[in-house]
Amino acid sequence: MADLETLGGEGGETIRCRYCGQLNNVRTQTGQARCGRCRLLLSEEPHKKFAHLDKYSYIHPLDSRALAALRNIPGIDTALKKLLEVTGESAIRVIFTASAVKVTPKQCPDLYYKLQVACTTLGVDMPELFVQQNPIVNAFTGGVKKPLIVLHSQLIERLNDEEVLAVIAHEVGHIHAEHVLYITAARLIEAVTNAALAASPVAALITQIVSLTMRSALLAWARRAELSCDRAALLVTQDPDVIGRTMMKLCGGTFASKIDYDQFLAQARDFQKNYDQKALDRFWADIINAGLTHPFPVWRVAEIMSWVESGEYARVLSGEPASAAA
Ligand SMILES: [Zn+2]
Ligand SMILES: [Zn+2]
Repeated sequence: MADLETLGGEGGETIRCRYCGQLNNVRTQTGQARCGRCRLLLSEEPHKKFAHLDKYSYIHPLDSRALAALRNIPGIDTALKKLLEVTGESAIRVIFTASAVKVTPKQCPDLYYKLQVACTTLGVDMPELFVQQNPIVNAFTGGVKKPLIVLHSQLIERLNDEEVLAVIAHEVGHIHAEHVLYITAARLIEAVTNAALAASPVAALITQIVSLTMRSALLAWARRAELSCDRAALLVTQDPDVIGRTMMKLCGGTFASKIDYDQFLAQARDFQKNYDQKALDRFWADIINAGLTHPFPVWRVAEIMSWVESGEYARVLSGEPASAAA
């Protein structure tokens, strides 16, 4: 149980935040109090931090298969490294330092401490975190030598504190799972498939350096990599419904009060029942063409719920080695 002491004479109590470790003085009978530092709900439930989390304990089999196919393409690593050299990893940092708010212990501190919670839980060095004005609910990770995470402003407006933690944890998952080279290249390619950038010099460079085969294998993998990082996010929030509700908001794009979560879960179960791998594979191509980076929230929530139901999530959380079928 968490540290819970009653303060003599003040009618309140001290609760140590299970996520960030901050000591909070709370008055009794205030309902659900939040931590003054990370703003996550205070509770006496434990929060597990992993000492040595093996990425293979949570990597989704569709991710591993797509990654194996990607790695089989001759010259892919050399091509992607060259692409990032030419486009300039440092340029990414300069762009965000110039145009987005950098999160620090003094700037959007609750986001800073949520990032710290995700990093200490998964065992990852803190990357830089930025918030950028953008109406699309999204977030991404970029950079290989020194990864950084960018959260769109709209995401913070729409999600509650636990859901924001889930998104940050998903992005930290990309770093923990060592996705950064491939994911940065994928994001770059996605960015230039947008009409506005299609005629840019970067688009020409990509076509020059990265073959069509490489590009489609990379984008096919990038979507499946999301499934692994959703699992990493669950290992941080340690509440499947937080992941489910986050997906629901990404999916519906509207305020949660107007969408029924149980109906959304039923929809996900329905989807799982009629799931057709081949049909979905054909669909990926259209999704890639449409330039969507995080498609199929319903599919993703169905996947995360079946990981929970398989018992694998509980096994990883308890620190037991995952089964080979995980
Ligand atoms: Zn806290
Ligand atoms: Zn992702």
